[in-house]
Amino acid sequence: MAKRVIIIGAGLAGCLLAIYLGRAGWEVDLRERRGDPRERGHVAGRSINLAISARGLKALRRAGLEEAILQDAIRMPGRMIHSRTGELVFQNYSRDPAHAIQSISRSMLNLILLNAAAAQASVRVTFHQRCAALNAMCSSVSFVDDRTGIETTATTDLIVGADGAFSAIRGIMYKNEGFDYDQRWLSHGYKEMCIPPVVSGAHAPFAMNPNALHIWPRGGSMMIALPNPDGSFTCTLFWPQKSSEAQGNGFDVIRDATTARAHFVREYPDALALMPTFDADFTTNPVGSMVTVRCNPWSMHGRAVLIGDAAHAIVPFFGQGANASFEDCEALADALAAHGDTSRAITAYEGARKRNSDAIADMALNNFIEMRDKTASSLFRMKKKLEHFLNGIAPSLFIPRYDMVSFSTIPYADALERSRTQERVLIALSVAVPIAVIAIALLAWKIAW
Ligand SMILES: Cc1cc2nc3c(=O)[nH]c(=O)nc-3n(C[C@H](O)[C@H](O)[C@H](O)COP(=O)(O)OP(=O)(O)OC[C@H]3O[C@@H](n4cnc5c(N)ncnc54)[C@H](O)[C@@H]3O)c2cc1C
Repeated sequence: MAKRVIIIGAGLAGCLLAIYLGRAGWEVDLRERRGDPRERGHVAGRSINLAISARGLKALRRAGLEEAILQDAIRMPGRMIHSRTGELVFQNYSRDPAHAIQSISRSMLNLILLNAAAAQASVRVTFHQRCAALNAMCSSVSFVDDRTGIETTATTDLIVGADGAFSAIRGIMYKNEGFDYDQRWLSHGYKEMCIPPVVSGAHAPFAMNPNALHIWPRGGSMMIALPNPDGSFTCTLFWPQKSSEAQGNGFDVIRDATTARAHFVREYPDALALMPTFDADFTTNPVGSMVTVRCNPWSMHGRAVLIGDAAHAIVPFFGQGANASFEDCEALADALAAHGDTSRAITAYEGARKRNSDAIADMALNNFIEMRDKTASSLFRMKKKLEHFLNGIAPSLFIPRYDMVSFSTIPYADALERSRTQERVLIALSVAVPIAVIAIALLAWKIAW
């Protein structure tokens, strides 16, 4: 008889895992709190996009979906830095021009994954099912239908909590003795804005070069923009929730469209000129919060396990939350295939993923500082050029951190450790090379003299 799994949450990770396990012979019961997005269609509403890179694409390839998803993706081989006066500087992400991150519609990605999961005979998807409780030994889950209030209980061999950053399953684990939990809110919030398509211009229907992730770094805060296939850009403001005394640059002070417009005139004038719906966007779109969640273990009684944001919510500044969640799906599917016993498979999965999710959580926090404070500086650009140069002369010895994270599947923890060693080499070189040049010059001068 096929083993049964209940996956809670038909988001990005839940759907991909359903595809993997359905194909591996599991009987999959996928339950989602919200309504069926296929009834609305992904084209309705605003475009929200994600940067997907090598890790995510590898996991999607395994599900046979990479090609379908890349059809509507937009390549971003580098970042475009916007100064206050509108000057643009393009920085390649990698020395290799073939390397690019991909801007992908979140709703389209979710829809393709959901359709592929639902198309399998072994996968049953049910909506309006809010997970409410687990029984003591994690052999059954209770759900409440939010429309009717009716509660149902289902028994299973394995429970997977793929229910996102504010996971109900993790909330249940939290009450267990021995469950370590750490939750850090970022002092910055985010708000989405829109640059719509244009009818004329060098990049029409795009108002700016679509093949870049646009950044307006303003030291302590920033705005970014990613392209959408319809010619629009989704912009995201990352501003402090509370302004510092010196800078009135937080959401607490810039609360209405008039104040925001005045701030944009000073800080982002080139973008403001491209935002005809500025006032409505600023007024209507909410301020979101960002959180880093670490917990340990990710499982209970060898029968319930967390994946994706439920296990490790991270801040979005390396564009890796979904990529890391997809890697979780691969690791859990592999562990379940390798170990007949579910409990042993879960232990192997946690062993493979925990240190890596901790590493990407750290790197994502670090990348926020890099994006908002450093990308505008010429020293930063020189450093990137030096990294690419070293990567060119010793490609297997020196791989810049961005390449390791976004364009390889080197485990995150190894990428973090290796990049720290490389950082020390760069510092040593930046001290040693000028000293050597001065010494050689002095020697040459002495000989000539
Ligand atoms: C502003 C922002 C930008 C981002 N940009 C990127 C990026 O560029 N690249 C990238 O890789 N990542 C990015 N991320 C991160 C990415 O969105 C997440 O890592 C990813 O969505 C995690 O997938 P998930 O399936 O674990 O969770 P989710 O996608 O959140 O899915 C969880 C699902 O569970 C359902 N659910 C919740 N509670 C219950 C319940 N009690 N019962 C039943 N169902 C439930 C929810 O309705 C949802 O459908 C970004 C995040 C943010 C906030």
